[in-house]
Amino acid sequence: MSATRHAEVAGGGLAGLTVATALAQHGWSVRLHERGSQLREIGAGIFLWENALRVLEELGAFEEATALGDAIDSWRLFDERGRPIQNDWMKDGSTRLITVKRTELHQALAQAARRSGVEIVTGSQVSGATPDGELLLETGESYAADLIVGADGVYSAVRRSLGLDLNVRDLEDGCMRHLVPRRPGDVSGEALEYWNGGRRVGIVPVTPDEVYIYTCCPAKDLEGRRQPFNSASWVASFPDIRHYLDRIPDQSRWAAFHDVRTHSWVSGRGAIVGDAATAMAPNLGQAACVAMVNGFSLATVLNQHDDVPTGLRAWERRQRGVSDATQKYSRLYGRVGTRWPRPLADVRSALVWLAGRSESWQHRVNVAAHSGADLVGPRNS
Ligand SMILES: Cc1cc2nc3c(=O)[nH]c(=O)nc-3n(C[C@H](O)[C@H](O)[C@H](O)COP(=O)(O)OP(=O)(O)OC[C@H]3O[C@@H](n4cnc5c(N)ncnc54)[C@H](O)[C@@H]3O)c2cc1C
Repeated sequence: MSATRHAEVAGGGLAGLTVATALAQHGWSVRLHERGSQLREIGAGIFLWENALRVLEELGAFEEATALGDAIDSWRLFDERGRPIQNDWMKDGSTRLITVKRTELHQALAQAARRSGVEIVTGSQVSGATPDGELLLETGESYAADLIVGADGVYSAVRRSLGLDLNVRDLEDGCMRHLVPRRPGDVSGEALEYWNGGRRVGIVPVTPDEVYIYTCCPAKDLEGRRQPFNSASWVASFPDIRHYLDRIPDQSRWAAFHDVRTHSWVSGRGAIVGDAATAMAPNLGQAACVAMVNGFSLATVLNQHDDVPTGLRAWERRQRGVSDATQKYSRLYGRVGTRWPRPLADVRSALVWLAGRSESWQHRVNVAAHSGADLVGPRNS
């Protein structure tokens, strides 16, 4: 490859930091613009599947991101009658799953970006980009680059300005995320999810001292999404896990789920990645994992192409299938988990139980986790 190539990246979330670091590690000069006054991540815990763990290893951020996390051996689902309907949901032994605190992950990626020489500019709001490689700021300034990446989230200004929008949908469901103190006897090495009607509660260890709890429901469930957290209403739906629900602090906030569809992820020298391109409800714990994989892959594919627009098209061709499939199964999971008619709850339990018996079906649903090997090759250990 000839002279140093330059990239401008919009967005300092998990996707922006990943793509910026990967590009810098391939010899690019990279400037990252974050509109916030500082780099920060909102949320409590996060599932990191094999595909994202491989990316962290490649970027040299694995140890820092996962040092306090929990290796999850099984993910169990229970229905409204307390019956286990899945024992090893999507876990087939070949894919690792580690749950970590979001802030730990974000910090580890930010450190990796700094170590790799990425220039991070905070308080810098991007207003758009052009296909011939110009990044535009709200201030009226503009920067020319060989590559522009929009990693600026669900309502991406870069995506809109490049004309890539197809459909951005509020899925009318969402959740509240909570970190509660971890007590002796609490869940360890496994993730638990409880269903009752359209409500779901997940209980997941994330550090030696904290458990991550998510409480999901349809947006129209006003009691379920009430702020401050409506403990009595959730305990009424899930009395068996009252000992966890009682610990939830009052200040938790509602996060709506979104689904982003695009005509394409690329236009000339411009590309979008992360929620800007592939936002989905976090039902499979894969939205950020897919974002990180796509960001990492963008740098590796461009490394094989002198011509940036050609490389970007090759990158989209390579990554699109797994991302589309993951969005599709996430939508299906949302329909089954959140919008299933209550009188047919037993039918749902039977179907979910049956789905768990089919290895090929589970593999298809979790295709993203298995795609890690395609990305960076087989694991040594
Ligand atoms: C409740 C919940 C639970 C989840 N759990 C999981 C999970 O377990 N596993 C998983 O893989 N995924 C999960 N996800 C999804 C995951 O959080 C997202 O996919 C991921 O954070 C997206 O990262 P991103 O960098 O693309 O976008 P964002 O996190 O939205 O980051 C975008 C960044 O760009 C900045 N920005 C926006 N506009 C501009 C602009 N114009 N100029 C400059 N900067 C800008 C923002 O300030 C922000 O810092 C979950 C999501 C939710 C809501």
